Amino acid sequence: MPIRTVGVLGCGLMGAGIAQVSAAAGYRTIVREVNDGALQAGLGRIRKFLEDGVTKGKVTAEAQEKTLANLTGTTSPADLKDCDLVIEAIVENLDEKRAIYKAVEAVVGPATILASNTSSLCITELAAATGRPDRFGGLHFFNPVPLMKLVEVIRALTTSEETSQALTAFASSLGKEPIAAPDRPGFIVNRLLVPYLLDAIREYERGLGTIEDIDKGMKLGCGYPMGPFTLLDFVGLDTTYYIANIMFEEFREPRFAPPPLLKRMVLAGYHGRKTKRGFYTY
Ligand code: NAD
Repeated sequence: MPIRTVGVLGCGLMGAGIAQVSAAAGYRTIVREVNDGALQAGLGRIRKFLEDGVTKGKVTAEAQEKTLANLTGTTSPADLKDCDLVIEAIVENLDEKRAIYKAVEAVVGPATILASNTSSLCITELAAATGRPDRFGGLHFFNPVPLMKLVEVIRALTTSEETSQALTAFASSLGKEPIAAPDRPGFIVNRLLVPYLLDAIREYERGLGTIEDIDKGMKLGCGYPMGPFTLLDFVGLDTTYYIANIMFEEFREPRFAPPPLLKRMVLAGYHGRKTKRGFYTY
């Protein structure tokens, strides 16, 4: 079944970006939020991103107009009834996700594909919570969605070949580069990135160097766009801690264990840029 109409659940950081790229690629896109305040805030962020893009000459006025014309917002799950694909990007909570899948499945047709943008939950468990475990998969975008090229496409144990192909083709149609990732904590990118970030904290605690020198070393010595501590502050120390715990619980390997300093910084409320204090002060 060709995908023409796309539903996006949640218009937060990720949902707004996903709705924007979907509308920009020509899909009729309907984004659903819990209340009008959250919806207007999310749609406002999309409008601002496009406006700034036009000002900087990175988005044409025509593309801005086309994107906004393809995009509508709602607070009612019933408005998603004509969607061929529904991408969920709501809060990272299994019960909330289960509840919204139920509400969506009550209105969409049997062929509609459901996908989750979850960073840490098990895709097979999410698929099993629906009445269509074969038409469910992971579609993991990166922040900020309009700028980051990668999408990880994750197959649950139950995802059909057809669904997996449809999700991969959809990601490509957004101008993204899809890769196939396993339904294991961290998928591909975080599986390798998180142990590196944890290792940087562990070695800093052991006296490897100053935060500034370790960052400068990895940036200039490896050609990375930023060092591990700058990146940790961007990602959020609370988010890193949460994901590390999930990985450690699943694999029981020391490289995934959150270092004592990370735990204490999270407990102290030093969560990175968003709290104006992490490894650096903002
Ligand atoms: P966010 O808190 O910015 O946005 C979540 C939004 O979902 C909120 O606006 C909230 O009002 C809304 N919401 C909650 N329940 C809803 C419901 N039932 N229906 C519709 N909307 C609902 O969170 P986020 O950072 O955008 O993360 C969303 C998802 O994307 C999570 O599963 C997260 O793991 C995943 N993710 C996040 C990142 C990231 O860098 N932040 C990257 C990749 C994936």
